[in-house]
Amino acid sequence: MKFADLHLHTQFSDGTFTPEELVLHAQKNGLACIALTDHDTVEGCARAAAACAAVQMEFIPGAELTAEQEDTEVHILGYFLDTGNQVLLGRIAQFQTVRQHRIHEMVAALNKLGVPLRVESVFALANCRSPGRPHVARALVKERLIGSLDEAFERFLKKGRPAWVPKTKMSALESVELIHQAGGLAVMAHPGLNRTDEIIPALVEAGLDGIECFHTKHSTVMSERYLEIAETHHLLVTGGSDCHGYSKNRPLIGTVRLPYEHVERLHAARKSRNSEVGGLK
Ligand code: AMP
Ligand code: FE
Ligand code: FE
Ligand code: ZN
Repeated sequence: MKFADLHLHTQFSDGTFTPEELVLHAQKNGLACIALTDHDTVEGCARAAAACAAVQMEFIPGAELTAEQEDTEVHILGYFLDTGNQVLLGRIAQFQTVRQHRIHEMVAALNKLGVPLRVESVFALANCRSPGRPHVARALVKERLIGSLDEAFERFLKKGRPAWVPKTKMSALESVELIHQAGGLAVMAHPGLNRTDEIIPALVEAGLDGIECFHTKHSTVMSERYLEIAETHHLLVTGGSDCHGYSKNRPLIGTVRLPYEHVERLHAARKSRNSEVGGLK
């Protein structure tokens, strides 16, 4: 049996692995195929693709786009993205700028609360265009301003906490269209974390191709529920560990093992979608 992990992060967003380290871990876990899905960026894909090619592992270039549907944050995974697509790159660059500004705002809020974190120490840690709250949390721990990452989120960074800063997001409809015009397939990430199944029909209406049924934080019952929803709406089924490297626990890569038949279905869907719209390979 061949297995895939289709939800992985690197240092190009809030993961701790380089693309090469990620591929090494994938190899150790005996995976036949991986997808890189950093938050709002495809920067790591070229290096991950090269590292995969060197060990004959299949690589799917992807991203996890931050979007919203009816005021709920949803993460839409794009697979088989053309990482040179100018429309995609232009749009995600805007959200990367939003993320960078937000770091300044979060640090200012912390300073106001009497926490002397410097913005430079966050950016020294988040050496990427798509920084996020985990980088602020890690900087707080590194500077010994807080005991743990969990505590940083609980006290300051979680939604509604005093240093939480909302970020401007694209609509879920736009994220699906952006992925499609870049030759990709759009998949709703970890629906079990959102607990907002009522928005799924609208996403399907918007052209959603699949749903992430298997995820580290999905119980067996949840996975079964989303498999049923996938069947009802004729959606593709994906899964992944959402590994962020050595962030909180041991690396999660390999803990969710998607049977390869689902990757074959993704390939078939991509082919038929792109032959329908024409032009794209
Ligand atoms: P951001 O994109 O900046 O809003 O940060 C969201 C990221 O923070 C998620 O992708 C997770 O990696 C991480 N995250 C969210 N909530 C928590 C939490 N309670 N503890 C640790 N990490 C979290
Ligand atoms: Fe993350
Ligand atoms: Fe996510
Ligand atoms: Zn993720």
